[in-house]
Amino acid sequence: MRSELYIDGEWRAAASGGMIAVVDPATEEVFHHVADAGPTDVDRAVTAAREAFDGVWGRTTGRERAEVLRAIAGAIAGRRDAFGTLEVRDNGKPLAEALWDIDDAAGCFAYYADLAEELDGRQDEPVELPDARFTSQVRREPVGVAGQIIPWNYPLLMAAWKVAPALAAGATCVLKPSELTPLTALELADIVHQAGLPRGALNVVTGTGQAGAALAEHPGVDKLAFTGSVSTGAKVMAAGARDIKAVSLELGGKSAFLVFDDADIDKAVEWIMFGIFWNQGQVCSATSRLLVQAGIADALIERLAIEAARIPIGHGLDPKTLLGPLVSRGHYEKVTGYIAEGRREGLRCITGGDRPEHLPKGYFLQPTIFDDVPETSRLWREEIFGPVLCIRRFQTEEESVLLANASPFGLAAAIMSADDERCRRVSRALRAGIVWVNCSQPTFTQAPWGGVKQSGIGRELGPWGLDNYLEIKQVTRFGSDENWGWYIKQP
Ligand code: NAD
Repeated sequence: MRSELYIDGEWRAAASGGMIAVVDPATEEVFHHVADAGPTDVDRAVTAAREAFDGVWGRTTGRERAEVLRAIAGAIAGRRDAFGTLEVRDNGKPLAEALWDIDDAAGCFAYYADLAEELDGRQDEPVELPDARFTSQVRREPVGVAGQIIPWNYPLLMAAWKVAPALAAGATCVLKPSELTPLTALELADIVHQAGLPRGALNVVTGTGQAGAALAEHPGVDKLAFTGSVSTGAKVMAAGARDIKAVSLELGGKSAFLVFDDADIDKAVEWIMFGIFWNQGQVCSATSRLLVQAGIADALIERLAIEAARIPIGHGLDPKTLLGPLVSRGHYEKVTGYIAEGRREGLRCITGGDRPEHLPKGYFLQPTIFDDVPETSRLWREEIFGPVLCIRRFQTEEESVLLANASPFGLAAAIMSADDERCRRVSRALRAGIVWVNCSQPTFTQAPWGGVKQSGIGRELGPWGLDNYLEIKQVTRFGSDENWGWYIKQP
């Protein structure tokens, strides 16, 4: 397990000597410490990234970068079990979910390796002009130094979503993982070193929001890519505004799952549970608002409460576990605070709401469902980011769309219905960056990811993810023998 900062290809202590405790959320024990970077460390990391960009990495061909990215993908796959176990101890998630993340992270590097290679063939693309005296071409060039700030819910995967496309584009990175889950990002640094990435092309600075703020404000950063809460995203955007940095933001959500009368109850219950209890509900796109049509509601909700109560809760390394602990004490208190507020408001909690009796230690919480939650409740409006589902019933399709869209967020939404035409209609009417039909949450590296409204700006993954790290340059040539003739007229 690494504990130092990875800057300019070397492992270094923080300039202040400060360290951050790493806690296992299942046992509440401190099992490691990592360096607490401050502005001096961030400055060194940005300087190293700039040198790497101006030096070796910024001048590589896509094909050369693809080779390194494939080596990184291979090395992650080669350390799959070690990465998975580390992620469980750091974050708490069940091992099967952690391994899913590790495979996806390796797949993300492999995918962007292909796109890096294709980029070589997409250079100097001609642009058709209406004036035959001119020709124009488009070049796609790396954005420069990327400052990348990520959250704790998918530690390695969020790092991969940012680092892989940036390196594929030819940009260089300073990555700031969450102070709650810094370990797999440091292991990634170890891997890139061995995979042949030149020094300075990826730097990893562990630290708190102070390090994040120093990165966001640093004048040497060209592009800010942030994933996290809306409130921090707003600060990052404001910090980037001073130097007009390019900013992409992947923020929170309160996504709706619309279930219509003609839905299959078994399938609906399975996807509703996957949509809210996967990763302990700590998923930006979690379908945490369930809208059920009146005709199916009683039968569906009764079944859902029974199945949710059966989910095995425990340590992430126990193979029977499907729900692990929440990530930290602070987050546990936030989520249970919403539950307490729901009870005070007199909301009907139809299952869960408490710590499981057999787990006296660790940040464990039962899968929790509140029925008939009014639109005015904070539980309906705000992102809880835990295994807490809020339900409302509706009569008509029109009403369901109005309810779903009445949110400041617009990350994702899900629909379940046997009527294809209705699914098409409703998917068009929903204001969200992602709509899942007859499922919830499946995520593919090839498909665009991101939200509208307060859920963010820009898209990650797919070719859109690569575009985040590319600047478009036009090169326009005057090819006529005639003089242009504006100031100096031909005799
Ligand atoms: P957070 O906003 O508290 O922290 C995110 C990161 O920002 C951390 O690394 C943190 O140290 C850093 N940070 C804190 N203050 C900062 C500042 N002033 N300047 C710069 N950086 C600062 O979020 P979190 O609690 O780690 O993550 C949960 C949130 O992330 C949820 O809202 C969730 O919806 C969102 N999220 C969104 C997506 C998406 O793709 N849209 C994916 C995962 C998580």
